[in-house]
Amino acid sequence: MTVGVLALQGSFNEHIAALRRLGVQGVEIRKADQLLTVSSLIIPGGESTTMAKLAEYHNLFPALREFVKMGKPVWGTCAGLIFLADRAVGQKEGGQELVGGLDCTVHRNFFGSQIQSFEADILVPQLTSQEGGPETYRGVFIRAPAVLDVGPDVEVLADYPVPSNKVLYSSSTVQIQEEDALPETKVIVAVKQGNLLATAFHPELTADTRWHSYFIKMTKEIEQGASSSSSKTIVS
Ligand code: GLN
Repeated sequence: MTVGVLALQGSFNEHIAALRRLGVQGVEIRKADQLLTVSSLIIPGGESTTMAKLAEYHNLFPALREFVKMGKPVWGTCAGLIFLADRAVGQKEGGQELVGGLDCTVHRNFFGSQIQSFEADILVPQLTSQEGGPETYRGVFIRAPAVLDVGPDVEVLADYPVPSNKVLYSSSTVQIQEEDALPETKVIVAVKQGNLLATAFHPELTADTRWHSYFIKMTKEIEQGASSSSSKTIVS
């Protein structure tokens, strides 16, 4: 099995290193035809506008959309999550091109700018029940996006509490009002929809490889499912 990692910009080397630690080969993807050689794809974190411009320049969007539509496993981390979302807010006028496929609205810079980056322990029951290890996962959030709403086919894997005075406007801004004693509300930071996995944080920047092994298992399962259904077609 080889896992492609979109290598236009951002933390693609770190993803390849994490895969290597698990004995899986990660391959840098820069051209559309390279997608034909990999079982699944990781779209890394970085800066989504820059990444989108480079993807456009290399005419990668049609091939990326086709890869998603074919049911191949794709995991977007941070800027990669923005790439996979059907809808994005919190970006400049006109926005940027998206791959789409994940039925959700993402706020591009929900948690603020670089200096508001943070680490936090999050609860991810599905990850910990499948991969074992500690009960929480230490998420690294860098200029992180958040998922504001999801469609009926999207499974929420993890959410994160924010003060409910951080009011969301669907157009483009997050308005912060006076601190008061309002209860907390939650935003979504990890989701799965069929062949698509997306996290608002950066598992490739930690030593904890549980998300990578989760995605490798997802890749194996989907690959096996695809080959058994094609062999059924041959038999019938
Ligand atoms: N918010 C960033 C963007 O819009 C993503 C940040 C990241 O990938 N660390 O691209």
